[in-house]
Amino acid sequence: MKQAFMVNADDDVPVTYQPQRFKVYTQKQLDKIPVLQRLPESLRFEMQVVANVLPFRVNEYVINELIDWDNVPDDPIFRLTFPQRDMLPPESYQRMADLLKSNPTPKEVKALANELRQDLNPHPAGQMELNVPRLDNEKLPGMQHKYRETVLFFPSQGQVCHAYCTFCFRWAQFVGDKELRFATNETENLARYLAEHTEVSDLLLTGGDPMVMKTRHLAEYLRVLLRPELAHVQTVRIGTKALSFWPQRFVSDDDADELLTVLAELVDNGKHVALMAHYNHWKELETPIARTAIQRIRNTGTEIRSQAPLVGHINDNPEVWARLWRTQIKLGIIPYYFFVERDTGAKHYFEVPLVKAWEIYRDAMKKVSGLGRTARGPSMSAGPGKVEIQGITEIQGEKVMVLRFIQGRNPDWVQRPFFAQYDEKATWLDHLKPAFGEKEFFFEAEYRAMQAQG
Ligand SMILES: *Cc1c(COP(=O)(O)O)cnc(C)c1O
Ligand code: SF4
Repeated sequence: MKQAFMVNADDDVPVTYQPQRFKVYTQKQLDKIPVLQRLPESLRFEMQVVANVLPFRVNEYVINELIDWDNVPDDPIFRLTFPQRDMLPPESYQRMADLLKSNPTPKEVKALANELRQDLNPHPAGQMELNVPRLDNEKLPGMQHKYRETVLFFPSQGQVCHAYCTFCFRWAQFVGDKELRFATNETENLARYLAEHTEVSDLLLTGGDPMVMKTRHLAEYLRVLLRPELAHVQTVRIGTKALSFWPQRFVSDDDADELLTVLAELVDNGKHVALMAHYNHWKELETPIARTAIQRIRNTGTEIRSQAPLVGHINDNPEVWARLWRTQIKLGIIPYYFFVERDTGAKHYFEVPLVKAWEIYRDAMKKVSGLGRTARGPSMSAGPGKVEIQGITEIQGEKVMVLRFIQGRNPDWVQRPFFAQYDEKATWLDHLKPAFGEKEFFFEAEYRAMQAQG
């Protein structure tokens, strides 16, 4: 079995990797990370303050192989994984800093943390209320069915990640707010729901990161699709950042080969298997083990598609995206989505105005060949759907932003161009106003009606 997914180095010597221990640090062990001792005490205190409010989790691979510690705090992977002072609004920062200096009880810290989190829009885009599917009129937690063709499934064992991204829109579920967690281990409910919904062609396993699961758990969910009554579910996508944060998952972990065998089994049974890989920066693609992981996955017949948000301080630069896409094409990865950062968490720190986002997207596109131009965006995953900024132009003397739905809660909204007043400051769909003196966008009345129905 090992042979099947073996990859060779350029000089035809088989590359083998010894299993590595997965060592992770969270807020409580922040002070124990050896390399942090190099940083000034004041900076370490700032990190503690923020890590008490926002999620923090990082592993030794990220620390030792992805971050350039000579370039901290500017290093993009450091900004991607380590807390920074400005991620909290100044007043929130001050309150937590003052409390921590006063020798507080854990209970006091927790209470303030919970209060401060409420100001950070923990659940954007009506995710909880609007998209929960029903079976025999019972709600199915851990599933979402927003767009006709695609069902999202959140396996309960996959609700963490190998490290946490500081900008993550799912941050609320990582800081222990169980109410905000939608997760399930109901394989049979999933199977029954899919069997009853023949319009569903795609199943998307997501999290957290489903790749934190042991292969034997993941395989249980995946093999459901091989049942004859689910033949209409042609595609299974797995959303993951393991290729960046823990490529060992596909190479040297105990059950890595078994995982690849399951993926190959699905492919061999006619399914389209796609790993939806989250890459923010080309630096995540440079280590030998990251590249070995990509090759091993591709050897199973699984496609790798990439997606990521544009985030300030990390990748708000066309050069970074151009190199990311060029490297992906070289490695056989297909760029898929270029997202606008969601309106949640440390958004004020990471947000990039929509106009600027479009300029970065366009400048990056100009620098790559056609195969590198497949990422759609800049795309906002908003309540009514995924809305893309197509461009900025002038129509009859009015400067406008041209928009369209890539995905809509009503499939009929998709691909219709619509127009917003040009706004250099807007960072999200609900900041935009219709152009040409119209009162509202074409979909708004219908969307309101959908919300009222629940
Ligand atoms: C993006 C997304 C999907 C997948 O949409 P595709 O256009 O098929 O990539 C499905 N469900 C939700 C909630 C999404 O945000
Ligand atoms: S890997 Fe994805 S789900 Fe996990 S923290 Fe990063 S953005 Fe969030």
